[in-house]
Amino acid sequence: LFIVVEGLDGSGKSTQIEMLRDHLQSRGEACHLTAEPTDLVTGRLIRSILRHEHTVDPRTLAALFAADRVEHIFHPDSGLLAQLAAGYHVIASRYYFSSLAYQSEFVDPNWIAALNRQAKTTLPADLTIFLDLDPQTSMDRIGGRTGDTELFETTEKLTHVRESFRQAFTVFGAGENIVTLDAARPAVEVADDIARLVDEL
Ligand code: C5P
Repeated sequence: LFIVVEGLDGSGKSTQIEMLRDHLQSRGEACHLTAEPTDLVTGRLIRSILRHEHTVDPRTLAALFAADRVEHIFHPDSGLLAQLAAGYHVIASRYYFSSLAYQSEFVDPNWIAALNRQAKTTLPADLTIFLDLDPQTSMDRIGGRTGDTELFETTEKLTHVRESFRQAFTVFGAGENIVTLDAARPAVEVADDIARLVDEL
């Protein structure tokens, strides 16, 4: 299975991904955890841009995220296709919906969608979980954090990102298996929901 976890910063993606891995491993299933931006060369460049070490046009950043995703899918060792072919369940933190949610503030969503259409055709997720959180709770949870998230840390921006996620699921995600969960609840409750959804698959 290829499972994607999407959500605002502070929505608990990392925690839920680890809990899902533990759940699957307790059933004897092998998992590969992965995330975007990746640790591959384009992903590292993206992280340096998010840390303000370089300034690029927002369209360039959108194109870099799409390029990083190509590597994420096709890399011969750590790539999604390679890991799935090796028999692992792959659980990814973020995928193309994050591109539509985050980059669409400054870049035409149709252009972002065009850049990502091949990824959607090649490898849509078997299940996309949206950990939905109101922007204020997101801000409260990430309050102490610094680093990559800096670029997007205002309530207005997070409100735009949340709305853009919803639109992206409706428009770009048509035909896909996407489930929205209330991520303001305790982590174990959210994890139980996710485990049930995955077990059904
Ligand atoms: O998931 P993580 O916290 O590592 O993401 C780091 C940041 O990268 C996000 O907070 C967001 O600002 C940015 N991002 C983005 N577009 C994506 C994925 C992540 O702008 N497609």
